[in-house]
Amino acid sequence: MNLPVESRRVFVNALTVDVEDYFQVWALSPYIPRSKWDETPARVERNVDLVLQLLDEAGARATFFTLGWVAERFPELVRRIAAGGHEIASHGYAHAKATELDRERFLADILLAKTILQDIVDAEVKGYRAPSFSIGRANEWAFDCIAEAGYRYSSSVYPIRHDHYGIPDAPRFAYRSRDDLLEVPITTVRFLDRNWPAGGGGYFRLMPYPVSRWLIQRVNEIDERPAIFYFHPWELDPGQPRVPGVDAKTRFRHYLNLHQTEHRVRRLLADFRWDRVDRVFLESFAPLSRGAPNQGEAGGFRGAPNPAHRFAPHPPSRGGDGR
Ligand SMILES: [Zn+2]
Repeated sequence: MNLPVESRRVFVNALTVDVEDYFQVWALSPYIPRSKWDETPARVERNVDLVLQLLDEAGARATFFTLGWVAERFPELVRRIAAGGHEIASHGYAHAKATELDRERFLADILLAKTILQDIVDAEVKGYRAPSFSIGRANEWAFDCIAEAGYRYSSSVYPIRHDHYGIPDAPRFAYRSRDDLLEVPITTVRFLDRNWPAGGGGYFRLMPYPVSRWLIQRVNEIDERPAIFYFHPWELDPGQPRVPGVDAKTRFRHYLNLHQTEHRVRRLLADFRWDRVDRVFLESFAPLSRGAPNQGEAGGFRGAPNPAHRFAPHPPSRGGDGR
């Protein structure tokens, strides 16, 4: 655990950003329904531009799971993300949870988002993330739809216990949900016989930063795997309008430590190497030949990490920050 820095094998981890506005969060949907989105003041453009600036300063690349609804209204923003060398992936069109849709409507939503994004960036969109990690044991048909829509990977499972999402017994590391679809679950650590969240979201704002750093280091050094981490642009925006009438639990979860997130993201970018999901995970999984035996752990193929991305020089220390 406490190896000298020079002898540590430094992984390239995958950084992901879910591009949606503060009012599109599922827990706020009772207060701001979809029919009111267009008349609600947007903050997504300024917030994503801040994220792009932080990534640029750190020389890091990331994957942006972008809502089709946002892309339609801010196509130039999507082009700016792609121009920065980042991966454009899909977060569906209207931020509906897969658990709220039937097969046909789910497929239509993720196809529409893919089409809109591909038209804007003129490149293949390979990745999809379900809103609120809403693929569970009850709707595994969603993986069939994701493959049918032409995506090559999904990052829609959080293998933890949570009141809104999660498959606690899903594989912790990238696996094939089908022969032609890679699932990249959000990073967890194994401790006291259960999985604990280590891949960002509200936990990143709840816990002091050194805990997040320790969790990622643990995955890299003990599990010897790259981590996948996520946050939202609105989490760096303490100035966002407060939605009135919100219940206490949602208020706590949504507004907690917003003023600290930018600084924490800066530290995260300085402490680890980050790249896009397609480069960290997808490129290291060769396609399975038809009829090949199932080669892996729980439910799928366990691929060898891509050596090119496994070990890389640590970024130069960013002296003088001091915060
Ligand atoms: Zn989302």
